[in-house]
Amino acid sequence: YGDISQITEQILFEKYEIVRLLGCGSFAKVYQARNIQTGQSVAIKSMSKKSIIKERLVSNIKREISIMRQLHHPYIVKLFEVMATKTKIYFVMELVKGGELFAKVAKCRFSEDLSRRYFQQLISTVGYCHSHGVFHRDLKPENLLLDDKGDLKVTDFGLSAATPQLQNNGLLYTLCGTPAYVAPEILAQKGYDGAKIDIWSCGVILFVLSSGYLPFNDQSLMAMYQKIYKGEFRVPKWTSPGLRHLFSRLLDTNPVTRITVDEIIQDPWFRKGYKEINFDE
Ligand code: ADP
Ligand code: MG
Repeated sequence: YGDISQITEQILFEKYEIVRLLGCGSFAKVYQARNIQTGQSVAIKSMSKKSIIKERLVSNIKREISIMRQLHHPYIVKLFEVMATKTKIYFVMELVKGGELFAKVAKCRFSEDLSRRYFQQLISTVGYCHSHGVFHRDLKPENLLLDDKGDLKVTDFGLSAATPQLQNNGLLYTLCGTPAYVAPEILAQKGYDGAKIDIWSCGVILFVLSSGYLPFNDQSLMAMYQKIYKGEFRVPKWTSPGLRHLFSRLLDTNPVTRITVDEIIQDPWFRKGYKEINFDE
C-alpha cells in the first residue's frame, strides 16, 4: 500500500476517539471522531481490506488517495491522513457537518434559485477536477455533503479516474457509477469521455434538486436503462424555460453535442449570480 502508515488499532484509538457513526456507503463506514490531543473533530472512513481485495479495488483505493491528496478546493472534502492496520484502511478527513444533500432534497424539492446555487458550486468543483485531469464518475446527491454554512462538499472519489487511466483513444472503459445517474454512452459500453459522463450526472442531480424526483426511473432496471438510452424525460410543468433549455443540453444523449463546463458557465439560467473563482491561484 505504498506510503500509507502501518499502525495497530491501538495506536489509532490512542489518537482518535470515535464519537458516532455518520454514514455507510457501498463498502465503507464513516465515523465522526475527535483528535484526543488537539480536540479537532474529523471524519474517519473505515474500509475492510478483505472487501477491497475481494472486489479487486486495491488500485481504486490507491487512486482515491492520490486524487484526494492532489485536489485542493473549497467544495472538495480534504484528506488529512491515511492509515492501515492488518485488516482495515482508514481515511482521516475533514468533518462535514450538514449531512447529505440527498437527505435535504428527499424532504422537499428546492426552488430554482436554491437548485442553481448548489449546481453552480457543483459545476465549479467539476470544472476544477476536469482541469486537473480527474473525473469523479460517481456524482450523485449521496456523495454531495453540506457544511455548516450550507455549502457543498464533494466526497467519495472511490470511482474517480485520473488521466493515466485513459486507454488508446482517450476514452474510459470501466462500467461504473450508480444506475439512475449513469450516462447512456456508459450503457452502450463503447468507451466514453470521463468529462461528458460527469456532465450527464450533474444534469440528473440538477433535475432531482429542482423537481424532487429522478428524470429516468422505473421499477425495472432494464426499463430505466431504456429511458436513459433514449433520453426520455419529462420536466415538471412549473420549470422555467431557461432551466428547461439547460436540461435539454445537459441530458443530451449524444456526448459529442452535450454541453461542456465552459458552455454551462455561459448559460443564462446558470449565470445568474455566479461568481467565477480561480482556485489555482
Ligand atoms: P462509499 O465509498 O462506501 O460510498 P462514502 O465516502 O460515500 O463511502 O461515505 C459514506 C457516507 O458517509 C456518505 O454518503 C456520507 O453520508 C458520510 N460521509 C462521508 N464522508 C464524510 C465526511 N467527511 N463528513 C461527514 N460525513 C461523511
Ligand atoms: Mg458514497
